[in-house]
Amino acid sequence: MSMTSRYRPDPRFAALGDAYSDPVEPAGFPEANLRWWNERWAQEIGLGALDEAEREAHFHRFKPLPDNQPVPRAIRYHGHQFRTYNPQIGDGRGFLYAQLRDRHDRLLDLGTKGSGQTPYSRSGDGRLTLKGAVREVLASEMLEALGVYTSKTFAVYETGEQLHRGDEPSPTRSAVLTRLQHSHLRFGVFQRHAYFERPDLIGELVEYAIAHLVPEAADIEGDRAAALLEAVSRRSARLAAQWMAAGFVHGVLNTDNLVVTGESFDYGPWRFLPHFEPGFTAAYFDEQGLYAYARQPESVFWALQQLAGALSLVGDQDALISVLEAYPGHYKREIITAFHHRLGVEPKGDDSDGALVSGLLNASRELEIPFEALFFDWFCGEASQERALGSERGALYGEDAFAAVQAQLLERTPVRAERLSHACFSKPAPVHMTIERVESIWAPIAERDDWFALEQTLSDVSAARAAYDLGRDRVGFLSE
Ligand code: AMP
Ligand code: MG
Repeated sequence: MSMTSRYRPDPRFAALGDAYSDPVEPAGFPEANLRWWNERWAQEIGLGALDEAEREAHFHRFKPLPDNQPVPRAIRYHGHQFRTYNPQIGDGRGFLYAQLRDRHDRLLDLGTKGSGQTPYSRSGDGRLTLKGAVREVLASEMLEALGVYTSKTFAVYETGEQLHRGDEPSPTRSAVLTRLQHSHLRFGVFQRHAYFERPDLIGELVEYAIAHLVPEAADIEGDRAAALLEAVSRRSARLAAQWMAAGFVHGVLNTDNLVVTGESFDYGPWRFLPHFEPGFTAAYFDEQGLYAYARQPESVFWALQQLAGALSLVGDQDALISVLEAYPGHYKREIITAFHHRLGVEPKGDDSDGALVSGLLNASRELEIPFEALFFDWFCGEASQERALGSERGALYGEDAFAAVQAQLLERTPVRAERLSHACFSKPAPVHMTIERVESIWAPIAERDDWFALEQTLSDVSAARAAYDLGRDRVGFLSE
């Protein structure tokens, strides 16, 4: 085996016992074409030295990793989908495959999507389309570059099956994907055990989460369930703010698509904003715009309330309610932090911080300034003034509607302005991931198996990640 010393297996979830998951078998696939391998994260977790045959054994056939989970496990969960409770769901096309420790000693999951049927597949085939996999790579890579706390797409194999889907020209190509993230403990896991009136199982999960996933909860005094909820609420407020500052619309903020670690994951019908538009909706099936761009913070809050409901089987009601009441305050702080972080400037710490955020958004809407370009052009505020005014968007920045925002930007201290020396900033426009871009990457793959546009884009995204350097690990969630 070619694992390095960074490989530190620690299969904790399976150790919780059979009440939380079911052992399942991975599907056998006719073909194995590696389409994506996350070399950077593979090295980070000690799997960077795997040869081709080992990669295929572990990330296509899902042969257990050494000293790890002996069998894949489909996790049991329920959830509210578009606010309606659904007790039929669970890991229907994925499973938890392995767990490891990262170098900060935090637990990491390797989980799958499209790895075959499970007891929770209902009428589904347990499969993932290749386009779905490509979209998941694009979303996770782009969000990571923009400093969002996201799952990492670890590996994608094309699997050689023909799938039928209502939302893609069919038959369509198939894939199996492995993702790396700190937890797959969805709000819906707690909801399922509440539905079956199992406070004992919920209590154990609370302890598991505090011990291994959100360690800052251990420092919060009082009721354990309320302490967990507080940590999750703070992390979730941060995530919602990060999505807003990334111009990202997740699309399906059901309670089974949110995890206690506050990581962004499960990329289905997501979209990035072309320019600021509060009602911009990603999923074609979201007819009411429930999960529109500007409704995301509220959707996360609603989901936290459902989590609180499940936790009330083991926790103190009043304590849980007062934790919930603090969410809007957390979000308000996080939105200031997230936008200033993306802009590469220091907040002033007064009311003008919020005015800058709303001014930027309004200008993007009114002048139709592309969302991504606005942050690229003005990165590090005054240190970018010349570049911004000389850019293709320069005329827009001369408009009256931009004057007040510009004045605010220029008043702020740039943070690490040396980042601007990266070659990325001499390009005329930033890499972005609006739907037109995504479709233009997919089209050559579908038409002639041409992967060049994808590779080129991923290399641009990787350069942007290095240039912005926004992804500093933020472990001390309660220190701010
Ligand atoms: P999602 O929309 O991907 O968040 O999935 C919602 C639920 O539907 C989860 O229980 C999934 O496991 C299940 N699901 C989605 N697609 C499939 C599929 N092709 N086969 C089986 N289950 C699926
Ligand atoms: Mg999901």
